[in-house]
Amino acid sequence: MTTRRRASLGVDPLFLQFGTVLIAGIAVVVIAVLTSGIVEHSSRRATNDSNAALLASDIRAEIDNVSLLRLEDAIVVTTPGSGRGRISLDNAIAAHDAIERAARKAENLHVLIGSDVTLQIFGAVGEARDALTAYLHEPTPETFADLQLRATALRTLTGFEIPAITTEAQSYQTRLRDATNLARVAIIIAAAVSAFVVGIATVVTSRRLSSALRAAEDEKGRLVDTTRNMQRRNDQFAALYQVGSEVGESLNMSYVVQTTAREARKLVGADIVAVRRMVNGVLSFAGTERDEAIDVDRLADVSLGTGIVGRAAKRGKTISIDAGAAAQMAEGERIDGIESGIVVPLIVGARVVGTLECWSRTPHCFDTDDERILEMMATQVATAIVSADSHEQSQRDAHTDALTSLPNRRQLNEDVHGVLVEATLNDVPHAIAMIDIDHFKRFNDDYGHRVGDITLQRVAEVLKSSIREEDRVYRFGGEEFLIIFADVDGETALKLAERARVSVERAPLTGDSMQPVGPVTISVGVALFPAHGHDVEALIDIADRAMYASKELGRNRVTLAGSEPDHLARAA
Ligand code: GH3
Ligand code: MG
Ligand code: MG
Repeated sequence: MTTRRRASLGVDPLFLQFGTVLIAGIAVVVIAVLTSGIVEHSSRRATNDSNAALLASDIRAEIDNVSLLRLEDAIVVTTPGSGRGRISLDNAIAAHDAIERAARKAENLHVLIGSDVTLQIFGAVGEARDALTAYLHEPTPETFADLQLRATALRTLTGFEIPAITTEAQSYQTRLRDATNLARVAIIIAAAVSAFVVGIATVVTSRRLSSALRAAEDEKGRLVDTTRNMQRRNDQFAALYQVGSEVGESLNMSYVVQTTAREARKLVGADIVAVRRMVNGVLSFAGTERDEAIDVDRLADVSLGTGIVGRAAKRGKTISIDAGAAAQMAEGERIDGIESGIVVPLIVGARVVGTLECWSRTPHCFDTDDERILEMMATQVATAIVSADSHEQSQRDAHTDALTSLPNRRQLNEDVHGVLVEATLNDVPHAIAMIDIDHFKRFNDDYGHRVGDITLQRVAEVLKSSIREEDRVYRFGGEEFLIIFADVDGETALKLAERARVSVERAPLTGDSMQPVGPVTISVGVALFPAHGHDVEALIDIADRAMYASKELGRNRVTLAGSEPDHLARAA
């Protein structure tokens, strides 16, 4: 996680941004300092030169316009008459002042520019001043000629050099302008380049920042998902533990089935969960937990290998369907509108004992984690189902006769009190019929005990099918049976007992290898409740006596208690 974030950023974006701005700022400052230095230097030179040009032209003007021209005039005026050079006093003073000013300016010029030329000018002006001083002191043709010579030289020099100085000053002006323009362009370029670099850095930084932000958002999303998934798994494991302990502790099959369906539905968020048990090779529908809107009327038993459920049970492997499940379902498992589902076989050892089906109307409702958790649950549920089944089986065994599968005497004892109490409360008459097979000892002797057993089973079946749904038949012991007829008076009881007797008499019986045996008949004695008493034991005795009377009267008949011949009633 940390590695990915570092890799995506490379360099700290803030550091990058700050560094770029700093470098761009330094570059702009350096360029500004350099260009301002150039401009300042050029400007100073230009100022100096323009001052120098002014001074130089002043010097030339002093010399040209005042002193020397007038000196020449004086020379022209004075020389031919006296033979001596002469200069008027005014001119002399003006010339002296002019040359003094020129000397000061030449000195300033030299200070300003400090070149060989300015030194030359300065020297020439000094010589001209000295010559003028000598002439004024002693105005002779020689001093005049010398003055004239110096003045001419000075004129020549200034006349030649001063325009050059002016020209050079102008060129410095031009260079100043160029330097200023250059500086302006350089600063604009530097500013543009800085802006560009800062812009690029900003774009790069913001891109990196936004991609880092996106990565962080993704990471956050993943963490939220992971946390949610972990929470869900946690809940699922808690529920798994809960269902494990609940179904593991119960030996009641319907409780195990109902709890399994309810918890499985909560566990994976299914719309409907159904549990089936394997009974005689058929997946028998045992229970469901569902959304009320789902119609389960068509849910019924499914054969092994048929449909999704049958296939999962046959292969002993979980089947997951992501979409269109309803179309693949067989009769007995079909639920309209179902899209996705998981069917987990319930396995103990190598035996498939049932299935756990979770269905949803939403496609792709379940994932592999749901599959895993259901498989874990299925292991516990399968064991619980087997335990409950064997418990119920042993309960049944204790109350069922192994040979005939009829409820036994223990079951009779448990039932009869409740039946008679209810009959008393509701004031509903009942009847008890005691039945004994005639000459069964002989039958055994004739056909053997094995055929005797088969015949006992057959008689039990015939008796069971001859009675009404509300009546119950028990194997009382040996070759004796007992029937409780519900809500009957004496007449009806006799009719029903007679119907049972005739059914046995007419029942075709076969032996071990299907050879016909028989005939088998029964003798029946009937006692009425409450007419013959309220006590169960006493009523059974009364019925037994009536049955004994039937035997005595020739067997294969029904006798109602109280209607026996006197000697038989007494004998009993
Ligand atoms: P009757 O009742 O008509 O007087 O004659 P009976 O031969 O039936 O008389 P009894 O009650 O003395 O004999 C009952 C016989 O039923 C004895 C026994 O061999 C046979 N019997 C009892 N239980 C079974 C059983 O589970 N299997 C077989 N094969 N025979 C049984
Ligand atoms: Mg008997
Ligand atoms: Mg008998």
